[in-house]
Amino acid sequence: MSDVFCLIANGDIPCAKVYEDDDVLAFLDLSQVTTGHTLVIPKKHCANILEADDETVERVFKVARNIGKALMKMGAKGVNILANANEAAGQTVFHFHVHVIPRTGNDENLVMAFKEHDTSSIDFKALANEINSNL
Ligand code: AMP
Repeated sequence: MSDVFCLIANGDIPCAKVYEDDDVLAFLDLSQVTTGHTLVIPKKHCANILEADDETVERVFKVARNIGKALMKMGAKGVNILANANEAAGQTVFHFHVHVIPRTGNDENLVMAFKEHDTSSIDFKALANEINSNL
């Protein structure tokens, strides 16, 4: 499998590298939804977080957390750390990656809204149990 992030991990196409170790690479996202927006990927291909093994998830998120802390030291007031899985969730590059997005509290071009919808028909206990039984 060779997607754009495999090519970056192999050094076949350039990136603005933030961090690298044997398993993980972090580089600036071309889109820079806010300044400092960084992607963290495993060098070994896997399609998304749902396909990744525990160790890979652990390594990638540890680096993402550390980059979040670095961005806070640089003046961010907060940080979003997130992974999109599958097209329906907005994934466009099918190689597991974590976005680290520094926030200032005044990021006009980035709107993330968790809007409540009508929950009257939801049986919260049954739903929680159903999710639990699928773990
Ligand atoms: P997602 O929508 O979660 O799959 O995010 C994919 C991200 O990859 C987008 O934010 C793109 O801007 C970014 N991206 C795609 N190609 C490159 C590249 N060659 N270098 C850096 N970022 C990239």
